[in-house]
Amino acid sequence: AARLELTRLVKRYGEVEAVREVSLTIDPGEFVTLLGPSGSGKSTTLAMIAGFETPTSGTITLGDRDITTLSTHKRNLGMVFQGYALFPHMTVFDNVAFPLALRKISKSDIRERVTEALATVGLGQFADRRPSALSGGQQQRVALARAFVHRPKILLMDEPLSALDKSLRRQMQIELRRLHQTLGTTVLFVTHDQEEALSLSDRIVVMNEGAIAQIGSPTEMYENP
Ligand code: ADP
Ligand code: ADP
Repeated sequence: AARLELTRLVKRYGEVEAVREVSLTIDPGEFVTLLGPSGSGKSTTLAMIAGFETPTSGTITLGDRDITTLSTHKRNLGMVFQGYALFPHMTVFDNVAFPLALRKISKSDIRERVTEALATVGLGQFADRRPSALSGGQQQRVALARAFVHRPKILLMDEPLSALDKSLRRQMQIELRRLHQTLGTTVLFVTHDQEEALSLSDRIVVMNEGAIAQIGSPTEMYENP
């Protein structure tokens, strides 16, 4: 596992300064949430870590490696983003196998790892179904399995639960916490929901107008809102 370090990250879109000098160190295995209102720069920060956007200035390092301009597929990330949907024509198994198939892993290893990932999210019996035959919560769990099946260094999640209804959302929060403990992977999670941030995170980073406004553990945040 490696430390993720953002140093004075800036992203400008013309006149708009979406992210302003964000500096943040995330320890291996930590669950960190970016919390803030719409337009505060959370998605843009995540997009730069994912390699979807290039910073205007600043650096991103993973361990001793500068990944600021590295292409997405070389960063070894797992992602659950809105608009990063499951492939509807593929089975659940093939959806989860997809990141492994890209990596030239043997068929028997793929079978073993996909089976294990589906068991971890409690969907072993649904491997041969299409996503459309699953509930919203089950589809979200397939997306999660696909995000961690290749054992990424970091899991990036941008509002992964926002499409779910309240009770499913609560259930998925509990599952996410359990999954984080099982995998020990570093997680960077984006939400505008304060309650969700408090219940999930080791540490909460509050963003406002492109900058970090506050950082603390859920307990610290609860006591000094
Ligand atoms: P959040 O994820 O907190 O809702 P975003 O990172 O999506 O915030 O957006 C931060 C600011 O940057 C907003 O003002 C948004 O309109 C602007 N922005 C984001 N992406 C782009 C883009 N591709 N082009 C122009 N402006 C953008
Ligand atoms: P989210 O709600 O997840 O933050 P957004 O709706 O803000 O997503 O953004 C969705 C996509 O549109 C992103 O790729 C973002 O970079 C882009 N985007 C956001 N704001 C603008 C903008 N003002 N102009 C152009 N593109 C934008």
